[in-house]
Amino acid sequence: MSDPRAASIAERRRAVLAQLADVEQQLTELRRMREREHDDDEHDPDGVSLSSEWSRLEGLRQTQMDALASVDEAAARLARGQGATCSVCGGPIAPERLEARPDATTCIGCAR
Ligand SMILES: [Zn+2]
Repeated sequence: MSDPRAASIAERRRAVLAQLADVEQQLTELRRMREREHDDDEHDPDGVSLSSEWSRLEGLRQTQMDALASVDEAAARLARGQGATCSVCGGPIAPERLEARPDATTCIGCAR
């Protein structure tokens, strides 16, 4: 645990997991609301259609899943000693970039 990047990746992983849990909870609540709505067949009193909220949350969930995957990939690459090497071109990833985004797996050039 001497590598500060391993620590910041672990920290980012915790943050992503927390956000993912939050989205999952909102999806669960929405699912319940949907069931209720189905029961009495009333319009949504908040004026926001449940299905658009649903797709927003699904999109959010997908974003967090992707973030989790890239955090895991970065952790695996770090464990293999490839943490500072671009996964696309094999070149070095700038230290400033790794500081800003500890889970980056590509150099700035390839990220574009
Ligand atoms: Zn590259």
